[in-house]
Amino acid sequence: MMRAYVALGSNLGDSRQHLLDAMTALAALPHTQVVARSKLYRTPPWGVLDQPDFLNAVVALETELEPHALLDALLEIERNAGRLRNGERWGPRILDLDVLHMASVTVNSERLTLPHPHIADRAFVLLPLNDVAPDLNIPGQGKVLDLLRTVDTQGCTPLT
Ligand code: ATP
Ligand code: MG
Ligand code: MG
Repeated sequence: MMRAYVALGSNLGDSRQHLLDAMTALAALPHTQVVARSKLYRTPPWGVLDQPDFLNAVVALETELEPHALLDALLEIERNAGRLRNGERWGPRILDLDVLHMASVTVNSERLTLPHPHIADRAFVLLPLNDVAPDLNIPGQGKVLDLLRTVDTQGCTPLT
């Protein structure tokens, strides 16, 4: 079993429902349990600013899936949610599922980079990741709670 952290995001359609459905789909993956869920956060867009706000969350998994198998499963859940990959990078999407970190695995393949290279610059990742793993050390980036103190969380609000 390996501990994995997955980031969820959506800013098209019923984003709250897309995130809740994705959490259900993650819990149904073979050889996988969801062991923690963050709050849902409303966050301003990042990278491409002219698009709707996002909802974001993070879940912690215990999984026997290999890193690339987990990635394939995430991409399939995105497709099943209706995500189209025809837009610009970082543009609006029904559902984005990214692997943030898996045990202490480092991967640099064409399809997968672990840990995810942008954790340290993203309040929309660090806020929910801090709910489930404040003491987690991201190799090459730092401890989640320390990283969270360095980013601008203005405009990010938890859903009640
Ligand atoms: P970002 O990775 O900066 O958040 P994105 O999530 O918008 O960008 P996508 O369009 O969802 O990017 O994915 C493009 C490709 O990124 C995927 O097809 C996948 O192969 C690759 N990828 C590399 N590393 C990861 C990772 N850690 N988690 C998810 N996808 C990854
Ligand atoms: Mg992403
Ligand atoms: Mg992605």
